[in-house]
Amino acid sequence: MTEQPRLKLSPKVSDEIRKTTCYMCACRCGINVHLTDGRVSYIEGNRDHPVNKGVLCAKGSAGIMQHTSPARLRAPLRRVGPRGSGEFEEISWEEALETARGWLAPLRETAPEKLAFFTGRDQSQSFTGWWAQAFGTPN
Ligand code: SF4
Repeated sequence: MTEQPRLKLSPKVSDEIRKTTCYMCACRCGINVHLTDGRVSYIEGNRDHPVNKGVLCAKGSAGIMQHTSPARLRAPLRRVGPRGSGEFEEISWEEALETARGWLAPLRETAPEKLAFFTGRDQSQSFTGWWAQAFGTPN
């Protein structure tokens, strides 16, 4: 009788696991982030976490795209076509910051409260709140 090749029913998906919380929404489910050669390769729910007990929604699974999506922004963009045309060019951080400074400095000197600062649900609200306060706007 010839020996059959052994099937790998549970191949290793990573070489390292880091435990953290999902930041794709405000629930903060516990997740195990699998890394392969230091790069995120898989995200699963953490069964020991009291919030989700191992369950992970589709949005949480898609968190991997925050790191691997080819559409991820990698540099500041400046619109070069008509609004809505989707035409942009990459610019340096120095140019982006100088552009923002040029827009914001005159406003800060005259009426900083006219700036309404909106960031959506980001993960650094305490920092953005601090920034708005330092700028001089309560808005
Ligand atoms: S796994 Fe889903 S429900 Fe849980 S924090 Fe992430 S996005 Fe929110």
